[in-house]
Amino acid sequence: MTAQLVKQVKDTLTEKRAMLIAEIADLATSIDECCPDVISVGGFADQASQVEIHEYLINRKRVSEEELIRIEARLSEIASEVDEIHCVVCGKPIEPDRLGILPGTPLDSACAHRLGANNHNHNHR
Ligand SMILES: [Zn+2]
Repeated sequence: MTAQLVKQVKDTLTEKRAMLIAEIADLATSIDECCPDVISVGGFADQASQVEIHEYLINRKRVSEEELIRIEARLSEIASEVDEIHCVVCGKPIEPDRLGILPGTPLDSACAHRLGANNHNHNHR
């Protein structure tokens, strides 16, 4: 994948993740709200639908949580596909290890070292 595509996919997944987190929070609130009813008035025939709603919400939440886990996994996969990101100075792929330590760095270690060394020397009086 190109750096641009990686970014696009990452943005989409990050957005989707935010949606799922919000959805899970909403479902958790709904479950909390319907739970006392289910427990306190259990045994009444008209509570059957309440129980069904409760189970439906729990199920929905579980599905969303599973999807969230998949998205998180995909996001970390993408984070490890960083060898596709190229140094802005020399155009060589940036080392995955380096991007693991410095996500979003525009330089490979050779250039960073060279430029860093230059800056360092420059700063010396
Ligand atoms: Zn470079």
